[in-house]
Amino acid sequence: MHAMVLEEIGKPLVLKELPIPEPQAAELLIKVLACGVCRTDLHIMDGELPHPHLPLILGHQVVGQVVKSGTNGSLYPAGTFVGVPWLGGCCGQCEFCLSNRENLCDQAVFTGYHRNGGYAEYCVADEHFVLPLTGDKDPVLTAPLLCAGLIGYRAYRLAGPCQTIGLYGFGSSAHLLIQVAKAQGKRVYVFTRPGDVQTQAFAKRLGATWAGGSDEQPPEQLDAALLFAPVGALYVEALKAVKKGGRVVSAGIHMSDIPSFPYRLLWEERSISSVANLTRQDGRDFFEMVKKVPLNVSVKVFSLEEANQALAAIKQGKVEGSVVLRI
Ligand SMILES: [Zn+2]
Ligand SMILES: [Zn+2]
Repeated sequence: MHAMVLEEIGKPLVLKELPIPEPQAAELLIKVLACGVCRTDLHIMDGELPHPHLPLILGHQVVGQVVKSGTNGSLYPAGTFVGVPWLGGCCGQCEFCLSNRENLCDQAVFTGYHRNGGYAEYCVADEHFVLPLTGDKDPVLTAPLLCAGLIGYRAYRLAGPCQTIGLYGFGSSAHLLIQVAKAQGKRVYVFTRPGDVQTQAFAKRLGATWAGGSDEQPPEQLDAALLFAPVGALYVEALKAVKKGGRVVSAGIHMSDIPSFPYRLLWEERSISSVANLTRQDGRDFFEMVKKVPLNVSVKVFSLEEANQALAAIKQGKVEGSVVLRI
């Protein structure tokens, strides 16, 4: 099979011809149809996340079809459409797994990081961690839901009840979440790189009440803010924008340092926090929600062999919506 492989940190992916993997017990062999490209993939390539399993096939927003299962696997017959998300396994026994927080498991295994992901024609996944899909949609439009959608949704829910919400960074996640927030009657304020009028216009087309630069203050104070750009200074900007009791939640796995800031910005029960990974329940909840709120997914599609160009497109921040490989 063809695969785009990360052989060395800091180097581009390399096109390789590899044997099709054999599923072990409780694993599925999946023919990959589409794989979303995530900023996390860039963080892995750049060595910003520790101990990737090299050589590594990236990709944790996989939509594919089951080819066969390993000896004990039988939950999904051949032909079933499934999604493979970031959480690829957990221990089931640690204090986090036992308290519905498997996203924080001490032994968690992540797709496209600890085990091979979907930048390839085939991948294997633990059948207990895949999400069943209906297969009635173009896989390219479903792939971004598997991380951008559902980890963003986890951050959105952590922000708690709110009427006004700010989104800092308007890429794959935010362009989906704005649609969820609008469907729930919220006013959404979008913050982009200063001067990025193109992305601001995109946000307004999707229903943003206001869009401006991240260095600007919104016209009204916000109940909550979500950070999608990997820039620590945005915590400080967002704290300035939220009202008393406001929550600022980052959905990013890696961020530049947060600069020091005066305590008065945190005072009055404002809070800052982060979201890590996802639980399987997040996945089930998100896909249930999407049935009621169909999302208009904006994608820029690349071929498998163009994975390096796809990653560069995310780095440059020039894509409206999500970046996906059609395999
Ligand atoms: Zn991701
Ligand atoms: Zn665990």
